[in-house]
Amino acid sequence: MELTSLSVAGLQQKLRAKEVSPADTVRALEARIAQVDPQIHGYLSRDFDAALKLAESADVSLPLGGVPIAIKDVINVTGEPCTAASKILLGYRSNYDATVIRKLRAAGAIPFGRTNLDEFAMGSSTENSAFGRTNNPWDTSRVPGGSSGGSAAVVASHEAFASLGSDTGGSIRQPAALCGCVGLKPTYGRVSRFGLIAFASSLDQIGPFTKTVRDAGLLLNVISGRDPQDSTSLDEPVPDYTAQLGRDLKGVRLGLPREYFIEGVDPQVDSAVRAAIKHYESLGAEIVDVSLPNTEHAVGVYYIIATAEASANLARFDGVRYGHRAPDPTGLLDQYGRTREEGFGPEVKRRIILGTYVLSSGYYDAYYLRAQKVRTLIRDDFTKAFEKCDAIVCPTSPEPAFKAGDRSDDPLKMYLADIFTIAANLAGICGISVPCGFANVDGRQLPIGLQILGKPFGEAQLLQIADAYEQSTDWHNAQPTLA
Ligand code: GLN
Repeated sequence: MELTSLSVAGLQQKLRAKEVSPADTVRALEARIAQVDPQIHGYLSRDFDAALKLAESADVSLPLGGVPIAIKDVINVTGEPCTAASKILLGYRSNYDATVIRKLRAAGAIPFGRTNLDEFAMGSSTENSAFGRTNNPWDTSRVPGGSSGGSAAVVASHEAFASLGSDTGGSIRQPAALCGCVGLKPTYGRVSRFGLIAFASSLDQIGPFTKTVRDAGLLLNVISGRDPQDSTSLDEPVPDYTAQLGRDLKGVRLGLPREYFIEGVDPQVDSAVRAAIKHYESLGAEIVDVSLPNTEHAVGVYYIIATAEASANLARFDGVRYGHRAPDPTGLLDQYGRTREEGFGPEVKRRIILGTYVLSSGYYDAYYLRAQKVRTLIRDDFTKAFEKCDAIVCPTSPEPAFKAGDRSDDPLKMYLADIFTIAANLAGICGISVPCGFANVDGRQLPIGLQILGKPFGEAQLLQIADAYEQSTDWHNAQPTLA
C-alpha cells in the first residue's frame, strides 16, 4: 500500500514502529501532491520546507505525532497566508495560530498545506474561490462540494491524511459526501473558533475530514475543549472519542425524519441511504420514525441569519488592516468602497447586501427577528426527536456531485444543495457524513454520503454509530483512480 493511502491511525503505527519517519511522510505527500494536484487543485499554497523542518523534530509518541494535516485557508497559521479564497486577503500573513492549530502542534501534528474553498466559505461547490475551482477526484468535470471542497478533495485523492474544514451550513459534511470521505461537524461550542475567519459566528464550527471514522475521533480528541479566547466554546469534558468505537448497536435507536425522505432526492441517493438503514437494522439498531416539522423553513432561516452575521463580520475588511488596499484613494470612504468593490467576489457581495437588508430598520423584525424565532422552533424539533432516538439518519446531500458550471448562475439552486445539512447548524447539534455507496452517472461512480446527526455533545456515540456502519461495509475503502 502507498504510504499516502494510509489512514491517520495506520500512519501512526508505521511512525511509532519507526518503519517510516515524519520527514518521509511529508516527502511522500509532497510527491503525491505534485502528481495529482494539477488535476484536483485542492491546495492554494503549501510550505514544504517548513513542514519538513517540523517533521524533523516531531515526537511520534504524541497523540498526532508526525502526522501532517491540511488546513482550510480560513484558519490562521503563524507565518502563512490565510486568504479565505478571496482577493481581499491577498498579501495577508497570519501573525498567530488559531487555537485548533495550537492544539494540533501540541499534539505533535504538522500543519501542512492550505486548502481551497468558496470565498469566505460562502458556497456549496468551491466554484466561488477567487483562485480557481477545485475538481472532484471521482470525476474532475464535477464539483467537490463546498465550501470546504479543497479539504475534502485532498483527503479523497490521498494528497492529505486528514484535514480541517469549517461547517456553517454543511461545509464539512456536504463536500465529504460528494468526495467520498468522512466529515464531522462538532456540536457548536465543542471546538474553539478562535483564529477561524468568521462567516456566521453563531453557526461556524471547525471539524475534521478523514478517511475513517476512527481518524475523525483522533482529531476531535485533540481539537476539542473550552478556550478562554472563544467565549462560545463550552466547558464540557472531553472524553476519548475513540473509546466507544467497536461497541455493538444493541439498544441504539436511529430516527428517520420523514421530512428528509422527499421527492427531489436523487433516486440513487435515496436507495443507498435506505440500504444503509436496512444495514443498521441488521447490526441490531432499532429504527424509529421521527418528525422535524420545521425542516421546510431551514434554508430560508439560514440564509437570513448567516447573511446577517456575515454582513457584520465582513465589515472589518476595509483595506486598513489586512490584505488588499485600493490604490490612490481620494479619501477614507473611497478607500473602503473601492477596496471592497475590487476585493470581494460576486457571491460575497450578494450575501453582504442580503444581510445588510435583513438587519436594516423596518426589516429587522420581519426578517431577522422572525428567523431567530423559527430557529428556536427548529432546535426544539431536534430536542423532541432526540427523546425518541439516539441519532438521526438521512442523506447528507440530495444528489451526488454536480457538473462544474451547472449551478453557478442560479444561487437559489445552489442554496438548495444544503437542504439536509443546515438544520444541524441552526440547532447547534453534531453531525457526520460517511460514505454509503455510489451513484452511477454517465458511466462514472460518484460517492454518496450518509448523514448521521447526534445530540449536543454526543460525538462519542455519534462516532460509535458511524464506525459500526463503516467497519461492516466496504465503501470507505474505494478510491478514485487518478493518473
Ligand atoms: N453552502 C452554505 C453556504 O453557502 C454553507 C457554507 C458553509 O457551511 N460554510 O452558506
